[in-house]
Order: sequence, then structure tokens, then C-alpha cells
Amino acid sequence: MSEWLYYPFLPRHMNFAASDKGNSKLWTLGELIRWATNYLSSKSIESPRLTVELLLSHILNLSRLQLYLNFERPLIAEELNTFKSHLKRLLKSEPLQYILGETKFLENTIKLNRKVFIPRPETEILVKIIEDKYKSRKNEKLRILDIGCGSGAISVSLAKIFKNSNVLAIDIDPDCIEATKENALLSGQNNLIVEKLDILNSLPNGSFDIIVSNPPYISIEEYSKLDQQIYFEPKIALTDGADGLTFYRRFAYIFAALLSSSGSFFLEIGWNQSEFVKKIFEEKGFKLVVENDFAGIKRFVYSLRF
Ligand code: GLN
Repeated sequence: MSEWLYYPFLPRHMNFAASDKGNSKLWTLGELIRWATNYLSSKSIESPRLTVELLLSHILNLSRLQLYLNFERPLIAEELNTFKSHLKRLLKSEPLQYILGETKFLENTIKLNRKVFIPRPETEILVKIIEDKYKSRKNEKLRILDIGCGSGAISVSLAKIFKNSNVLAIDIDPDCIEATKENALLSGQNNLIVEKLDILNSLPNGSFDIIVSNPPYISIEEYSKLDQQIYFEPKIALTDGADGLTFYRRFAYIFAALLSSSGSFFLEIGWNQSEFVKKIFEEKGFKLVVENDFAGIKRFVYSLRF
């Protein structure tokens, strides 16, 4: 039996193992939140209270506020077991978003599984930049291309913001195609098309007013030094297996052919890549603007051409 079932600092009746053995102890929601929060913080899990609350609201299908209004609610065995198995996964460093099977991206719920990259909060800024730059053209019938759509977080958000636009989401990975289709369906947007395509070796048809991409930009060297958690995510979504710049070189080469005459593009980049990426694009005649993320890191570049 794993160690966490016998949390040593709790009276015996508060150990899960007691209820496992048919003991009469019933866990209430309040007790469980307190116990699990202490337990996770003793294991150095980040934001333990929030993590526990998110897991329990997911399992019990209650909002976080409802959790607080139901502290006396007892948990049934099945709920406790699910919670236990989620805690075990957390302790093995699995990202919370995979355990929950979803995340929030802007106001959208994005379904996730371990085969797709977890959208990061920073990337919401990329969408916000596009929304801002195109605010006077919100109702136009824009053609938008999302290269490497992953879970579809960016595509779904843009399809919602630009309701009259047509979004084409592409990815080399069939699992991402499936995930983006599911998230598009869930969002109720019907202006989003998903297509399997390897951008390094082929081109989508047509020309686009907006191209957006958050490509795998981590160099293989840096990738090998990242936190344990990241290895739960598909490697193909994170690193190009080379110096991290492969996709920008390809984009600089193909964007002239893919963009409409007044088309713009918006990209996420790695923390140390802005100078390299600027140079790559300047050599092809594009001028880039750089923007920071929440941490003040140069995280986005764009080229506005209207
Ligand atoms: N921002 C991601 C991370 O640091 C990497 C995303 C990407 O490679 N596009 O985990």
C-alpha cells in the first residue's frame, strides 16, 4: 500500500485506509479538503489548496463556491476512490490539466488528453494581440490559419472572436486533429475546419489574412533539462529536435506565398529567440514587432501588413 494512504500525522480514523477497510469513518468534504491540502503541501505540490478544490469540484461536479457551501457533505466510496487515484497521479508529477481532462483558455473550456500539448496561459496573450490589432475588422470575413493547432485552443478562440471568419487549423499529429475537432464541436463554432498537414513539407491551399502559430520552439538541448512534468506532454509539440528555430525558418520561407496581400502573422517564440527570429524574417523582407508575456519575457512577434 502506498505511503500516502497512511498519512502519519493524522489520527488513524482520518486515514483513507480506515475507510477502505469498511470502517465506519465517513469523510466529509471539509475534512477531505483540509487533509489533502496538508498532504499535498507536505509533498511540495504547488498551490495545494487550489489543486484539491479543482480536483474535487471536477469529481463532484460542483463549482468551487458550492464546495464551500457543502463542507458537511459526506463522500461516497466511489468519489473517494477517484480522488485517491487523482492524487496518486499528481504525486507522479502528472499535470493537473491531464488529470482533469480539460483546461481553461480565455473563456473556453478545452478538452485535453495526454496526446496533446496543454495550452499555456501566456498563449492567451497571443490571441489578445490579434483581437486588439483586428478590433476594427472584427466582423469581416477573414481567412485565418493556425499552424500546429494542438488542442485547438487558439483556433477555437479566434473562431469565436471573429465570428464571420473562416479558421483553418492544421497539425501534423492525428491526435491533435481529433482534439481540435472535439473542441470545435464543444464550442459550437462552425467556422472552423481542421486538416492534417505537415507544414514543414507541404502547404495548405488558399491565402490567409491572419496566420498564427505557437510552434515547437524548445531546442533539443533545452528540452532535456526541463521539469519532470513536461515529459507527460507530447515531445513533438515542444521541441523541433534541433535548435528550436526550424519552424520560423520554414515560416519565413513560405509566408509570402500563404499571406494575402495585406495579411499579417502572429507567433509565439522561446524566451531567448527574439533576435534570431527577427533576423530570420528580416532576411525575407518582413519587419517584426516583439511583445512580452506576463513575466516580461519577449514571447511574441508579429508583422502587421494592413
Ligand atoms: N511555452 C511552452 C513551455 O514552455 C513551450 C511551447 C512551445 O514549444 N510552443 O512549456
